[in-house]
Amino acid sequence: MSAPSVITIDGPAGAGKSTLGELLARRLGYLFFDTGVMYRALAWAVLHGAIDPEDGEAVTVLARDLDIQVLPPGDATDGRLYTVLVNGVDVTWELRHPDVERIVSITARHPAVRTVMRERQRAIGSRGRVVMVGRDIGSIVMPDAPLKIYLDASIDERARRRTDEILRRGGDADLQRIRNDMIRRDSLDRYVSAPAADACTIISDGLSPEQVVALVIARIADRCDDSQEARA
Ligand code: C5P
Repeated sequence: MSAPSVITIDGPAGAGKSTLGELLARRLGYLFFDTGVMYRALAWAVLHGAIDPEDGEAVTVLARDLDIQVLPPGDATDGRLYTVLVNGVDVTWELRHPDVERIVSITARHPAVRTVMRERQRAIGSRGRVVMVGRDIGSIVMPDAPLKIYLDASIDERARRRTDEILRRGGDADLQRIRNDMIRRDSLDRYVSAPAADACTIISDGLSPEQVVALVIARIADRCDDSQEARA
């Protein structure tokens, strides 16, 4: 089976994009790159620098200068999929903090910020053998990618998964708060979240990560009839 050199996975928060992306990349021997991490790293730096997230000019200057490194997890045993360094500081778990989630969509909205981020993402994507995850990857960042997945799930399933994930890590998680925050972020991110016209949609409610990977592998094998993989 010859896999496409770039696979994009887009969809809303909690749909299972990172889990799918990581499993798929491991299976294919590809790089897994989660672009949400770049926007989260920027939001972290905005908080750290006491910058107003609404100030497009200041956020853009920060984005241009920010050194974001996404590295393999190495010997870490805390369940991380990667290690993120911002200006040399390990912020991997801080990027999941509610304060970052509160402002990340606001910092990501500035057009000049998106230009900076998309250029960096394209540089990584153009090397090939990559599974790239985000919101606008198939539609705008890598529009020529040969396989595009749009992964979605109901809000209840997404909120439940995110809650379980935080509890598994030993954190505090309130299902209702997480659900409300996802609805808020869905709405702020809507402008950038339309699936690419040629994306294959997978609704992951009731499917295990392995079942979703199997669907994508099957999709690679019969690359890629135009039918949607939606489940009622
Ligand atoms: O995917 P994740 O929840 O980590 O993304 C965090 C935020 O980063 C999203 O809510 C969205 O505002 C922004 N984002 C984006 N474009 C991407 C990936 C993430 O605007 N390609």
